[in-house]
Order: sequence, then structure tokens, then C-alpha cells
Amino acid sequence: MSDKKCTSCSAPLAEEGSTVFACPMCGVEITRCYRCREQSIPYSCPKCGFGGP
Ligand SMILES: [Zn+2]
Ligand SMILES: [Zn+2]
Repeated sequence: MSDKKCTSCSAPLAEEGSTVFACPMCGVEITRCYRCREQSIPYSCPKCGFGGP
């Protein structure tokens, strides 16, 4: 059971299609839910502030 949350909208990542990757700058884990991925909502790293599509 995961308690991860979307980095962009803070929704719990329960849905299929969510994605997890490491921040290219600092390596912290970035998570995005299906909805944010579909809509290309930009993320910003909670640690270093790096943002991207
Ligand atoms: Zn989201
Ligand atoms: Zn970062």
C-alpha cells in the first residue's frame, strides 16, 4: 500500500497511469498522478524547486 502523493496536485496516487521519477537536479522523487500527466501540469521539485513539464 502506497501513501505517495502527486507532486503537482497532492492527490493520492491510487490511480493507474501515475508516474514516478527522480528530479534531474537533485534526485528527489517526483510523482505525478494520471490527471496531471494527461493535462501536462508542470511539476516543481519540493526540494530544489526545479520545474518542468
Ligand atoms: Zn496530480
Ligand atoms: Zn530537485
